[in-house]
Amino acid sequence: MAIACHRSQVTEEKVGDEHGLFPRPLTERELATLRFMLSVPDGRLDPLRSQVPFTTVVGRCPCPCASIELSVDRSQATAAQGLGERPAVSTVGQEPGNELNTYFLMVWLDKGWLSSLEVAYIEHLPTEFPPLELFEPPKIDEPSTEESIRTRVWSTLRSRLRR
Ligand SMILES: [Zn+2]
Repeated sequence: MAIACHRSQVTEEKVGDEHGLFPRPLTERELATLRFMLSVPDGRLDPLRSQVPFTTVVGRCPCPCASIELSVDRSQATAAQGLGERPAVSTVGQEPGNELNTYFLMVWLDKGWLSSLEVAYIEHLPTEFPPLELFEPPKIDEPSTEESIRTRVWSTLRSRLRR
């Protein structure tokens, strides 16, 4: 068993222009997932919400999960401040009745700009973003605790294995 698709892999093997597939608009499902992640009632996310209409997909994870690389037209919005970046927002979800089908959604930033929407998983590789009903309400990963998602991933996994 492994928790797959760490951001470091995405960066190292970043897929560039895949036969002209990028840049492209977000699909409906990608857009719904991004909006869900940015729905945290916190004013620090306002700039990110304002970036969404000016965001395009510029790459995808090679693994090949649904994770996507994002780019914002920086002339059209402002950068977010006071947030962590790696990730800024995250949540965890699980398929009912299958506790090892666990997913993590994360939004990554680059100096306050949307840079990646990532799904990490424990058992089942999601080639599309999983249904949003599976997920807990997203949370801001405070900058002071940038390792918190990693901590949460492992504590979730450990608690499930212990049962
Ligand atoms: Zn991946």
